[in-house]
Amino acid sequence: MTAEIIAVGSELLTPARMDTNSLFLTQKLNELGIDVVRKTIIGDDRERLADEIRQARGSSRIVIMTGGIGPTLDDVSREAASDALSRPLDYHPEITVEIEKRISRLGRHKMAEINKRQAYVLRGADVLPNANGTAPGQWFEDDRGILMLLPGPPREIEPLFETQCLPRLRKLEFPHQFYTASLRVAGLPESEVDERIGPIYSAESRVATTILASPGEIQVHMRAQAATTAEAREIAMALSKLVEAELGSSVFTRENEPLEAVLLRICRERKISVAVAESCTGGKIAEHLTAIAGASESFRGAVVTYTNEAKRNLLHVSSKTLEDHGAVSRETAAEMAQGARRIFEASLGVATTGIAGPDGGSDKTPLGTVFVAVADDDGVEVDELHIGGDRERVRVWATRRALNMMRRRLEGRDERL
Ligand code: AMP
Ligand code: MG
Repeated sequence: MTAEIIAVGSELLTPARMDTNSLFLTQKLNELGIDVVRKTIIGDDRERLADEIRQARGSSRIVIMTGGIGPTLDDVSREAASDALSRPLDYHPEITVEIEKRISRLGRHKMAEINKRQAYVLRGADVLPNANGTAPGQWFEDDRGILMLLPGPPREIEPLFETQCLPRLRKLEFPHQFYTASLRVAGLPESEVDERIGPIYSAESRVATTILASPGEIQVHMRAQAATTAEAREIAMALSKLVEAELGSSVFTRENEPLEAVLLRICRERKISVAVAESCTGGKIAEHLTAIAGASESFRGAVVTYTNEAKRNLLHVSSKTLEDHGAVSRETAAEMAQGARRIFEASLGVATTGIAGPDGGSDKTPLGTVFVAVADDDGVEVDELHIGGDRERVRVWATRRALNMMRRRLEGRDERL
């Protein structure tokens, strides 16, 4: 079963807006085992849209349009679908009533006449109520396949798709069922991951394995295909176990959670509190940790200490250390991590100090040098990194490494005890 996605909107053809809906939709479709074979972006142009709909319906059973169903005159997805299918649009007064109710709930007085455009429905289509906006979606099905008209704003299409389109799609007869097992890996380069697990996954022809690299992290997706979901799951999980056995503790989750969520879960389970002292990462570690709901159970606080004075006064890094070794040094990083533990009365402290560039490198400490320190009751551990690339890349990679070092330190405690 294949699908095509048509993202509608002239703004999506400019640098001003990105088509992110197709990424969301593709993920959801892939989870059902539906392959997306083409995605297109078309401006608000009725004729071009109608052409694209005809073509897409000629080659895929499922066609999803996102955007272009708002009230304004530039939104022409409904009309284009009507042209492509040679089917009229019918006015549904009950949709106007819903829109009026919504508008008065939001405290506005009168519905603009233009909103009535959203009450036109392709003859034969089902209306998909939109809990987060005025434009309802539409689901049309005939012997050629399915055509969905869905809203553009992500906060509208996402819940609408999950609550109304997914249950309908699940009822379709699929010749195959799929299950995807995924592992997320930190601290290893992509080439090493592939070298080590390549022989393992290549030997399993029933699973399509993909390796995705992002800063400081590798994801391994293993998608199995079988007659039933249970069978597909069994095949995918069996391979996942072999891959995990090869990569060991570099695998930080099988549940698709971000590294910082895994770290905070371990902290919560073991009642460990965390404090952060950042220099070159400028608050990124704290930002990652506080983005996770429930962080307050373990995260005590963070300081960004950029100058020597700040490192001395706030973290009690000694003047001698700063003079003898410099601000970007193993010794300073260690004292920063210990200082953070002390001032926040935390069990685990982490610190970064480095040269993110583009200026400031020297022969002794070249650009991209970052020291990351992790301190706990057992002592302090410092890693020296040499990160290539621009300022942002150095900051991002140093942040990822710091989070992973904390996780490894906590997991390593079991071995040290
Ligand atoms: P529309 O329904 O076409 O009026 O779209 C309303 C708003 O939704 C647009 O201004 C965009 O900000 C957003 N939007 C539309 N299509 C997409 C898309 N494919 N991905 C992300 N955002 C979108
Ligand atoms: Mg639009």
